[in-house]
Amino acid sequence: MSAPQRPQPRPGVLSIQAYVPGKSTAAGVAKVFKLSSNESPLGASPKAIAAYRERAGELHDYPDGAATALREAIGKAYGLDPSRIVCGAGSDDLINLIARAYLADGDEAIHTTHGFLMYPIATLGAGAVPVVAPETDYTADVDAILAKVTAKTKIVFVANPNNPTGTYLPFDEIKRLHSGLPPHVLLVLDAAYAEYVQRNDYEAGIELVATSENVLMLRTFSKIHGLAALRVGWIYGPAAVIDAMNRIRGPFNVNAPAIAAGVAAIGDAAHLETSVAFNSKWLAWLTKEIGQLGLTVTPSVANFLLIHFPDTKGRTAADADAFLSSRGLVLRRVAAYHLPNALRMSVGSEEANHLVVAALKEFLGK
Ligand SMILES: *Cc1c(COP(=O)(O)O)cnc(C)c1O
Repeated sequence: MSAPQRPQPRPGVLSIQAYVPGKSTAAGVAKVFKLSSNESPLGASPKAIAAYRERAGELHDYPDGAATALREAIGKAYGLDPSRIVCGAGSDDLINLIARAYLADGDEAIHTTHGFLMYPIATLGAGAVPVVAPETDYTADVDAILAKVTAKTKIVFVANPNNPTGTYLPFDEIKRLHSGLPPHVLLVLDAAYAEYVQRNDYEAGIELVATSENVLMLRTFSKIHGLAALRVGWIYGPAAVIDAMNRIRGPFNVNAPAIAAGVAAIGDAAHLETSVAFNSKWLAWLTKEIGQLGLTVTPSVANFLLIHFPDTKGRTAADADAFLSSRGLVLRRVAAYHLPNALRMSVGSEEANHLVVAALKEFLGK
């Protein structure tokens, strides 16, 4: 075999379907309501914005590579040991680092049918094989995941709640999943939407991480904290996992204004509370109103909902997307998540939520 005539990416890289972010524009529409990326309609805490601005004069200095102030603030807020936390440039960054640290060529990482797309992307990028476990009622299925475990399995990724379905697994089910896994399989609990969940049987992962060697919890400042632009996420994990992450991560992977804004955001309990209450109110309202239009809405515990459309010509998800976009209402197509006939809608401002319901009514001819 002759040598290739140009550099070749490692096997797997060219099998990746690049992640397509939610649209933020609509052709020919001046005022756009972006409901495609699960961003916070209330924005960041004013204290976080002020802390970010205060760093403007110090852009020549490297950040604290260990993000000490942020890890301490997170530790204080959740009662966690800061030495068991590692921060990253968004949880997307951390998902890639986890894959690079724990997957070798030919290993397998499991995710579920409608699981977050970053899992197969990171898995392929690490030269490993993504294995898909089927879901039941748009919800991760513990037995189906366990049935996919082989000698090659190294990671199980579960978003809880999951994006784009909005469904969740109760803590009992997460514990059952964990106890069915061999000890060398890393269970990644991605709790990007944990703060929104109002269910007594939910636990983001803290308890399981504290008591096991093979579970880590991923969190982000992009959703409830409204800091998506800054790219800040974190891991709480066993000491050995944190050690591996600290070896493989970029030495300055979280920037200084992001660290400062994160510290202020997590300290602003009032803003957090307001954001949770706002979401609970409008999530319930949207679920009820859209359901009353005759569309099926998957019950969500997060800050978005999955709306299913009929197959009928003129009434499909693609048709609805075009109709809504023409009115500046930008939702998310989720065909890449094997949901060709659904749209994901982020809970928006009061105005945006009303506009979507009114537009859907018009779209359905009601
Ligand atoms: C939005 C989201 C994240 C957060 O990504 P960031 O890189 O931190 O912005 C992580 N996991 C899931 C499932 C998400 O939906």
